[in-house]
Amino acid sequence: MTSEVMPSPNYRCPLCNSSLALKVKTYRCDNNHCFDQAKEGYVNLLPVQHKHSKSPGDNKTMVDARRAFLDKGYYQPLIDEITNLYQEFGDSKATILDAGCGEGFYTHQHKNLTNSIYGVDIAKDAVKIAAKRYKTCNFSVGTLSNLPFNDRFFSWIYSIYAPILEDELSRVLSNNGYLLTVTPAENHLFELKSLIYREAREHNTAKTPITKMTLVKEQRLHYQMDFNNGEDITNLLAMTPFAFKTTPELLTKLKAKTQFSCQADFLIRLYQKDDEN
Ligand SMILES: [Zn+2]
Repeated sequence: MTSEVMPSPNYRCPLCNSSLALKVKTYRCDNNHCFDQAKEGYVNLLPVQHKHSKSPGDNKTMVDARRAFLDKGYYQPLIDEITNLYQEFGDSKATILDAGCGEGFYTHQHKNLTNSIYGVDIAKDAVKIAAKRYKTCNFSVGTLSNLPFNDRFFSWIYSIYAPILEDELSRVLSNNGYLLTVTPAENHLFELKSLIYREAREHNTAKTPITKMTLVKEQRLHYQMDFNNGEDITNLLAMTPFAFKTTPELLTKLKAKTQFSCQADFLIRLYQKDDEN
């Protein structure tokens, strides 16, 4: 029965770059490479050959900490800001990609604004959690250096605290499509860093990894986060690269804290891809 073959031009084979078609929970390309859909609904498009470690990306502990922290709403102002930008520049027919989606927290924020949303991340643990929780989004495991999507498939891409590989992002972005990046601004988590490093440095925000697209808008989002329990602080810490520098003594001290105030400082940039000839 041919009706059970669903064309899915969205995904491409990570081994030979040809389009994948979905047939009874298996994605298959013309060269017969196949990838099974997991019971949670995501598809693993990261071939063993492309893995540089057994479980690349954030581990389960980091993923759990991030989810617990984000669920508390500390980054709600960031969500509001990126939703506003989408409403100003995007459209309801946009096909969205969250590149480096983690456990899907940002991915699903647009579910009421468009109905075609994809998230990709190299960390399988995170993608599994995302797919379980956000059924209306399409999740896959894949690498940002070889995105498992066809050329120009997306009209809106997010890169939130993820590595920004311009050429590959640009390849899957439609002409005149948008790329929104969120990176740490100068004082992001400064107070937390001060507890860990003898001399906490400010983030260097001068360099942008995007050189070929047009910067449409750049804005800074700066606010204070007030914590009243140690668990939220240690969860926040676990999300950061400086978690590895923490001593057990400091961790115990942080856990016992009942008052802590820390700056959130984000740099939000919106780029537009120019017309290709
Ligand atoms: Zn193939």
